Amino acid sequence: MPRKKRQRRLLAPPSVKGFSVFGPKNRAQQVVLFFEEYEAIKLLDYDNLTQEEAAVCMDVSRPTLTRIYESARNKVAQAMVEGKDLIIRGGNFQFDENWYCCKSCKAKFNMAKAGENCPVCNSNEIESLNDFYKKSN
Ligand SMILES: [Zn+2]
Repeated sequence: MPRKKRQRRLLAPPSVKGFSVFGPKNRAQQVVLFFEEYEAIKLLDYDNLTQEEAAVCMDVSRPTLTRIYESARNKVAQAMVEGKDLIIRGGNFQFDENWYCCKSCKAKFNMAKAGENCPVCNSNEIESLNDFYKKSN
């Protein structure tokens, strides 16, 4: 029986659901970037962590981190070169904390337990992002 893949740990959800092409684009296709691939690019190229540090953050081995990162870069390059939208969706991951989105003001935040109000606008219309992103897998 194949070993169940261990889930990769994500600190926070991305601020957007994807990126759209400016100008003529290949409408037929889009490139799907997994959440853990987005996270690898963020940790290595935006936060400037070493691969060792990023592997610890995501709770994976260094070789696994390298594979995720190479796949991520290939997909980003494919989207750029071939003029395809890049959608961030799916993968094998779990968030480090419970993230929520306010349905009123669209703020994203984390909190220890459900049932609290939005820290920005005090609305009680709160949606769990952890559940939302799991559903989009
Ligand atoms: Zn709010």
